Amino acid sequence: MFKNVLFSAKMEHDVIKTVIPILKKKIKGTNLMFHDPTKDFFDLEDMRRSFSEVDLMIVKVGSECSLDLLHFAKLYNIPTLHDIDTVLICKNKVDICGFGRMALANPNFPKQIFQEGLIDKKQVCITCSKCSEFMKIGQNVGCATRDLQYK
Ligand code: SF4
Repeated sequence: MFKNVLFSAKMEHDVIKTVIPILKKKIKGTNLMFHDPTKDFFDLEDMRRSFSEVDLMIVKVGSECSLDLLHFAKLYNIPTLHDIDTVLICKNKVDICGFGRMALANPNFPKQIFQEGLIDKKQVCITCSKCSEFMKIGQNVGCATRDLQYK
């Protein structure tokens, strides 16, 4: 259960206006915080302190400010409903992406993004660094956590 959830979206949007009362009613025992990226701008130096208590971010990406928020979440390991890399690809904000460990953990993730719009969370890299240990001892590098060949 998430204790503090940040919901970031343009609050005047018709769909969001409908969703908010439903969220308030359905999510009990959770502190639901609302952020409007069109009105509340971030002080980058203050972001870490402002969001230090957040356990989950739900961000409807409609502006660069929303992308900043997702970048921030990734930087400080705050779970998000949608991860920044997937959003950037889906919104055609990038032409090329480089992936290291994620490609080891789930080589099919680009296909999942394009076909299903998200990555299976059970197949993501958990940054355990076991693949780096293989490299250090001169073995073939692979994902010790997700790839049966390396277990
Ligand atoms: S071994 Fe660990 S760090 Fe390396 S790709 Fe797999 S989950 Fe990620």
